[in-house]
Amino acid sequence: MIRHKNTGQLIVISAPSGSGKGTIINHLLENDNTNRWLSVSTTSRMPRPIDIPGVTYNFVSADEFEKLIKEDFFIEYTNYAGNYYGTPKQAIKEKLDKGIDVILEIEIEGASNIKKLIPEALFIFIMPPSLKTMVKRLQTRKTESKDKIIERFRRAYQEINQVTQYNYVVVNDDLEEAVNKVEAIIKAEKCRVDRIEEVYLDTKEEEIHELLMDEEFENESITEKID
Ligand code: 5GP
Repeated sequence: MIRHKNTGQLIVISAPSGSGKGTIINHLLENDNTNRWLSVSTTSRMPRPIDIPGVTYNFVSADEFEKLIKEDFFIEYTNYAGNYYGTPKQAIKEKLDKGIDVILEIEIEGASNIKKLIPEALFIFIMPPSLKTMVKRLQTRKTESKDKIIERFRRAYQEINQVTQYNYVVVNDDLEEAVNKVEAIIKAEKCRVDRIEEVYLDTKEEEIHELLMDEEFENESITEKID
């Protein structure tokens, strides 16, 4: 009866630093690593000890990044806390064409640029349970200087104020609950009518039945319809 579009879903997930977004995304990938793919961004920031080049990010110099911008390599890019971050275009297109859902873990400016290009993408914002928890998570990470933490905190505060640009917001106060909510959102999104490619009728009988039902419905008064 219904044929869905066979392109993958583009899922944009943003969250301020220290909101636990990385852990949620890891769970989403564990739950389905065949039909989901996390895009690997390119950045000019220095790798942290937990970073794996080519897996968490592709690390390049600022000069190399600027060269890639000129070559139109990115679908979007931004400068965040003094470093470049960008989403490579080609790999995303290939995965979506194959029907694989693509997750972009990007900040709000990037998300808003994607929204202009692909408004039908799914935009989810992960909110920390409180600003206090967020600062604590940033401090315990011990990977940033005090200045950088303050800058990231300021940026986080601005981002939280722009949450209404997103389709959904999930508060990460309980990890399991937050992952379940994001899974439910992704599932619901697959049922959206704008993901329908075609509605077709299987048999002649169904076609006739459909026509009769339409006629009956049209003849009802508005109060009957509400009844
Ligand atoms: P971090 O340095 O903590 O890994 O990332 C800093 C911020 O940059 C995070 O909010 C992260 O989501 C965002 N980010 C990572 N990759 C990209 C990207 O390709 N584009 C944009 N716009 N933001 C990104």
